[in-house]
Amino acid sequence: MMNVPRKLTLKAKKPPLFGLIKLLFPYYDFDKNDIITVGNTIYTRSMPSSIALWHERVHAHQQKYSKLYFFTFYLWKYAFNSRFRLQMEAEAFRSQYAYAKKVIKDRNKLSKYLLFMVTTLADPRYKLDINEKIAREIITK
Ligand SMILES: [Zn+2]
Repeated sequence: MMNVPRKLTLKAKKPPLFGLIKLLFPYYDFDKNDIITVGNTIYTRSMPSSIALWHERVHAHQQKYSKLYFFTFYLWKYAFNSRFRLQMEAEAFRSQYAYAKKVIKDRNKLSKYLLFMVTTLADPRYKLDINEKIAREIITK
């Protein structure tokens, strides 16, 4: 499990260059409490669960905790390279599941949470063109 060397900031406001992000990710919906991490800052309308935060920590790590890196490199590659997007999300979802296994002790609750993650990763919003069977394999690999 990865270490998180630096503190992340949580902001209940729209991310910087919101219009650009919305253009590249039309499925990103700030008003529906979707979360986006830009550098070392997590933008969301409401307080995410610790498990959801764990997922975002991975993205912050991938972005080197740098907003500049996010806007100059990560955002474009994430938006236009589906293989890269899958790699980034696979890492985040796997780490999130590993963390979920630590904090959710009840087996039924854990399997429900895994199903939630599977349907999320297979959701068209990620434009990964994978079904739930593949999504499950990716997360539990
Ligand atoms: Zn993610």
